[in-house]
Amino acid sequence: MDHRPSVLVIGAGIVGLCTAWHLARAGADVTVVDRAGPGEGTSSGNAGAISAGSVAPLAMPGVLRDVPKMLLDRKGALTIPTRYWPTAFPWLWKFVLSARPERVEAIAQGLATLLQGAEDRHLEILEAEGAADLISRQGQLYLYRDREHLAKDDAAWELRRRHGLDMRVLNRIELLELEPEVSDRYGIGVFLPQQSHSVNPLRQARVIARGVERMGGAFRRGNATALMTEGHRVTGARIDGEAFAADHTVLAAGAWSAKLLAPLGLHVPLESQRGYHVMLPSPGVMPRRPIIPADRKVFLTPMEEGLRIAGSVEFGGTEAPPSPERSALLLEDLAKVYPQADTREQRPHWMGHRPCLPDSLPVIGPVTAWPGLWCAFGHGHLGLTGSAPTGALLAAALMGPAPNTDLTPFGLERFA
Ligand SMILES: Cc1cc2nc3c(=O)[nH]c(=O)nc-3n(C[C@H](O)[C@H](O)[C@H](O)COP(=O)(O)OP(=O)(O)OC[C@H]3O[C@@H](n4cnc5c(N)ncnc54)[C@H](O)[C@@H]3O)c2cc1C
Repeated sequence: MDHRPSVLVIGAGIVGLCTAWHLARAGADVTVVDRAGPGEGTSSGNAGAISAGSVAPLAMPGVLRDVPKMLLDRKGALTIPTRYWPTAFPWLWKFVLSARPERVEAIAQGLATLLQGAEDRHLEILEAEGAADLISRQGQLYLYRDREHLAKDDAAWELRRRHGLDMRVLNRIELLELEPEVSDRYGIGVFLPQQSHSVNPLRQARVIARGVERMGGAFRRGNATALMTEGHRVTGARIDGEAFAADHTVLAAGAWSAKLLAPLGLHVPLESQRGYHVMLPSPGVMPRRPIIPADRKVFLTPMEEGLRIAGSVEFGGTEAPPSPERSALLLEDLAKVYPQADTREQRPHWMGHRPCLPDSLPVIGPVTAWPGLWCAFGHGHLGLTGSAPTGALLAAALMGPAPNTDLTPFGLERFA
């Protein structure tokens, strides 16, 4: 019998899980290690949006103009506590540099290549696991106060439209036909009929984990403390100090990935953009699809277990405790859209770590300088969307047949 390559996947977030699923299906002997249960970290609490058309990077031309406001506006969509400015500054500088028009075009092309067909990629996994009901295909609806408000996002919408996004601008009467309870603060809608959402990201992660096990993969609870090397080859990882050898090691540890790379001399500008959600089991009002008021770009997503209000971007690293005032702001966003919402019953507010690189592109593929090491992290605001395509691409690159997609734009080497 042919040798089945052994693969250790570090991280059982949605990216590690989709990668493990595709690897197991391709015949690899897969072990996934995580210090928590599958999908219980950032991947459990996102807004659920599957946004294959979101190819506009976060840093768009003109971003430099916005940085001072970002730093000083404590109620803004993005906040950086004063104590964190020195740590954030080098990242922000790279972020601003990536907003040059020619770079933005290249990034959008990279994102389009990765995300195109993302929903089909999710369904490919979920149908095989008998859980296609996790994906709701009702589109997404952005809300703007008026034409002037909409004009602020013209460049990003135009970029997405050029990459094939189906978008329809609606007047107030048309938007009420879709979502009749939206407050009169909003006069314009942008409806994206082809975008979809997960009705339960944690259940989705657990379904995929079950699929990995069904195909012979194993899960191990533990902390990967270091990558193991022999000469210039990565040969596995130390898990709680114990050696775990593997032919290949896939680093899918979300916002914590860079820490494991640093001892190999690989330095990646990965920052956590901390995000929050509030879950209302019985809000008394429920949209049919994710609604995104453009004020602070918060998502109001109808989920199996209630209405989830998710968003906010806060720098501050992976160690600092959550900032309750950031999640409280989400309720203000909700009140702007649904002043009638009943917020008396709330699940404990949640915080997670978006793994963000300054150019909005994830790192996917082999590490040239370290055979045996593969990366799948840094998906930022689009990690749910990008997880299934990433898993398919990485497994194909590792197990063959080699994918047609050129992985160079996603290479770790771009930060060398
Ligand atoms: C508020 C919010 C809303 C969002 N909304 C959306 C959305 O609508 N659509 C979308 O596409 N994306 C969204 N995202 C982004 C998305 O959730 C993330 O990009 C995605 O979950 C990242 O997945 P991951 O697997 O890379 O990381 P994670 O889910 O963070 O998983 C990494 C795993 O690695 C484990 N780990 C780390 N280090 C180690 C170690 N040393 N040893 C063992 N285990 C380790 C962690 O325990 C964790 O389980 C949102 C994020 C937030 C915070």
